[in-house]
Amino acid sequence: MPQRAVFPGSFDPITLGHRDIVERATRIFEKVYVAIGKNTTKTTMLPFESRLEIVSDVFKDMNNVEVLSYNKLTVKLCEKLGASYIVRGLRSGTDFDYERNIALINTKLNDKIETVFFISNPNYAGISSTIVKEVYKFGGDISGFVPTEVIEFLKKKK
Ligand code: ADP
Repeated sequence: MPQRAVFPGSFDPITLGHRDIVERATRIFEKVYVAIGKNTTKTTMLPFESRLEIVSDVFKDMNNVEVLSYNKLTVKLCEKLGASYIVRGLRSGTDFDYERNIALINTKLNDKIETVFFISNPNYAGISSTIVKEVYKFGGDISGFVPTEVIEFLKKKK
């Protein structure tokens, strides 16, 4: 059985931290689905169509990565895709507390699906989509935080 994993998130926008997690996950899993949540309670800077376009562009050369959007429970998406693993990233103890709760709920919903955590690369542990959005909003340079595809997309939209 090929081992498939789902990396769910908002990716608003995708950062170097997210990309690093996906690249590392592909060394363990045969297939990694990057799943962009459509309906979360979060208000997003980029509509999901744009997030889908950017993230697809970032991983276009990695044939074991597939990008998709979804608006259902993550475990339901895993069941549909035949994925037994959910990948998440941990930057800090705060992330851990938040992520642990989600993982516990997901285990209650389907105990066959394991959540696997990747400790953030120290170079990227300070990066969050929220901070990127703040810097961008005030005209700061975000090129050290996001893949070039994000910069290109934002330039094109201006
Ligand atoms: P969500 O809205 O589901 O939290 P995010 O796009 O903010 O979606 O994050 C998706 C996952 O990526 C989360 O597990 C988060 O902890 C992780 N993550 C975010 N930024 C980084 C980073 N810089 N390094 C490692 N993991 C990260």
